[in-house]
Amino acid sequence: MTVTPITDSRPAPVLEMRADRIVAALDTFRAAFPGVRPFYATKCNTHPGVLRTLHEAGCDFEIASVQEMEALGGIGVRAGDLLFSNPVRAREQTARAAAAGVDRFSVDSTEELGRVADEAPGSRVYARLATFGDDSVVPSEGKFGVDVTGVVRLLLEARDRGLVPYGITFHMGSQSLDPAALLHPLQDVAAAMERLRRAGVRLEMVDLGGGFPAAYDEPVPPLADFGRAAAAGIARLPYPVEVFAEPGRCLVAEAGTFRCRVIGVAERPSGWWAHTNLGVFHGLMEVLESGGELHYPIHDARGTRLRRCYHLTGPTCDSQDTFARDVLLSADLREGDELLIGSAGAYTSVYASRFNGFAPPRVVLV
Ligand SMILES: *Cc1c(COP(=O)(O)O)cnc(C)c1O
Repeated sequence: MTVTPITDSRPAPVLEMRADRIVAALDTFRAAFPGVRPFYATKCNTHPGVLRTLHEAGCDFEIASVQEMEALGGIGVRAGDLLFSNPVRAREQTARAAAAGVDRFSVDSTEELGRVADEAPGSRVYARLATFGDDSVVPSEGKFGVDVTGVVRLLLEARDRGLVPYGITFHMGSQSLDPAALLHPLQDVAAAMERLRRAGVRLEMVDLGGGFPAAYDEPVPPLADFGRAAAAGIARLPYPVEVFAEPGRCLVAEAGTFRCRVIGVAERPSGWWAHTNLGVFHGLMEVLESGGELHYPIHDARGTRLRRCYHLTGPTCDSQDTFARDVLLSADLREGDELLIGSAGAYTSVYASRFNGFAPPRVVLV
């Protein structure tokens, strides 16, 4: 039996991705981080047009799954050029990636190191260092990473198991607003490199991870400030290495705009509400993940001078579907009006579900 999805909210919401802005963001990143090689974090926005735009602009890619590897293969990215930076993988993921030619894997446990040694013998491994005091807007909640001693132990063990001790990586937490957040991890990296050198192991690369901010409704520090912090930390490493980064959000967020539709306006004791055909479960999940801290720039196409404050909520029956509060929009906003949600290119469409039967947004590259 096939179930036809409910399509009551036509025209369905669209996420418009602007290729020129993606390329401009990559240029900005490269200018801010001279000598650092960017590997786009594929999970952030997996639309083939987005991936192709980055690939054609010469960007490399970081993956968290074989499925992402296959999507990239579809647009001509070689598996051997990828970083597999998800520190814990199902065994068959490592095996399939290795069979396709991936040979760089991150690890943060002895167990995972064992699986990599089994399934991808001889490959290059980089250890994931934990970061602390994460004050990013979308924290990574300390899920991954070990301390300096753990990094040293893992990379020595990698050598003993016939793997190549390749490098060290970390992630400062997503949408970081503090360039100094790069300094402490880079000090730890320097300490680990020094200890490894004394044990006869010389690394080839350091990977700054992601977390670099995009502009939403509030200003953020310029990427150049993060670049300067990175350069200062890199300059204090005990010997030169290749430096990589894994930007996700800052390459694609500002390139995306949701076009959705007001399906109804309601006045309630809690204020004026505008209901739209796009909400938390169909692309705006990061509003929940950030505890309401992420504020998308939102405009309506009516553009009436007289303004009114609205709470904005999606089409489902779930009260968690509210994605913005106290947004000034046209006072005469009404059913059918178009709503534009900016800076929506990162961590939006990739989270969208069919919750309550509503179709996820279409993604188009323009
Ligand atoms: C998600 C992720 C990134 C990208 O993070 P952003 O905050 O989008 O820049 C980079 N590296 C790894 C390992 C990730 O999991």
